[in-house]
Amino acid sequence: MTQVDYIIVGGGFAGFFLAHQLQKNNRSFVIFNGHQISGSHISAGVCNPVILKRFSTFWKSKDQMDYLETIFSEIESYTNRNYIIQEPVARIFHDEAEKKQWLKNSNKEELKPFLDTDFIRLKNVENPLESGIVKNSCRLDVENFFKDMFRHFDANQNLVNESFDHNAIDFKASAYKDFQFKNIVFCEGIHTKDNPYFNEIPVLPNKGHCLEVNIDGEIDPYIIKKKHFLFSLSDKRYYYGGTYDRFDQSENIDPEFVKELEDGLKAFYKNDFSVTKIKTAFRATVDDRRPILGTHHEFENLHIFNGLGARGVLNGTYFSKVMFDYLENKMELDPEIDVKRFY
Ligand SMILES: Cc1cc2nc3c(=O)[nH]c(=O)nc-3n(C[C@H](O)[C@H](O)[C@H](O)COP(=O)(O)OP(=O)(O)OC[C@H]3O[C@@H](n4cnc5c(N)ncnc54)[C@H](O)[C@@H]3O)c2cc1C
Repeated sequence: MTQVDYIIVGGGFAGFFLAHQLQKNNRSFVIFNGHQISGSHISAGVCNPVILKRFSTFWKSKDQMDYLETIFSEIESYTNRNYIIQEPVARIFHDEAEKKQWLKNSNKEELKPFLDTDFIRLKNVENPLESGIVKNSCRLDVENFFKDMFRHFDANQNLVNESFDHNAIDFKASAYKDFQFKNIVFCEGIHTKDNPYFNEIPVLPNKGHCLEVNIDGEIDPYIIKKKHFLFSLSDKRYYYGGTYDRFDQSENIDPEFVKELEDGLKAFYKNDFSVTKIKTAFRATVDDRRPILGTHHEFENLHIFNGLGARGVLNGTYFSKVMFDYLENKMELDPEIDVKRFY
């Protein structure tokens, strides 16, 4: 039997950022990651403090942006790679009223650090009314982040590449298969619906499609946003996405959303492009737009870290520390994020 302080279930943003906090604080742990579809693995990784419809911001956005640099420099210290790509969001304006709204909002205290009042004109894409830059926004190199995290935790014997069987927990012995644990933290995204201990918690799937496209022409190095995000992955390889669908819970590619993406890109990129990959997965969302942290109402060593919504990177990094402080330093959870709100 191997003794561990924690079993983490799930190898998406929630699971890996929490694993980082445990490693940093010398706690022993093992991560179970199964074959289930993960939203994190196909995400755009955009870290953006501004809601691009209304040019407003959201709860804890500044704290979350401030914490990004800390956590990724800690991760870089053992993977030897920087994952934060400092290419800001450039929001293409749809009309003059939007530009006015942007300028007006840029005077608000909470938006001053983010809304740049010097508009730019992007090359080779349609932006006749210019584009607004979100200062300090950036994106995560998602591909390399997961490649390195899987490799790192595998090399340290922290990773078990198999599905966690909820029915195999031996509560009397605090054991699961070959592991004796103090705590289990479920970071299962939308698959929490298959977890008999947390399946009543309302984690709502929001399906997203995204494309990889080949583009020959030169596009300025920004995260270009009109209806969706466009940015370069490497050379001619670009990411374009993602869509939002609260209804479809199947894992199939939906041609309607692929068309929405192709039309969305054609609306501002007038040259040829070819679609090389189509991907789909789910965001784990919550109606009140707050993540879900905390402990099972009956089993005090079963916990949940979920509900990262459309902001897996910002919520995942920031709230992984909150989760650690709750579990290990007995810090109280804000009732807004505590799983208790559903009991
Ligand atoms: C198209 C798209 C674009 C997105 N773009 C962005 C973006 O630009 N910026 C951003 O911040 N966020 C973005 N997101 C949102 C982000 O991806 C989610 O917030 C994030 O995926 C949530 O992470 P998670 O770890 O909670 O869940 P997931 O990523 O779904 O991870 C859950 C993990 O648990 C594993 N698992 C589940 N059940 C079990 C089990 N029984 N045993 C073992 N393993 C199990 C799964 O295999 C999976 O690896 C995007 C999402 C989509 C779909």
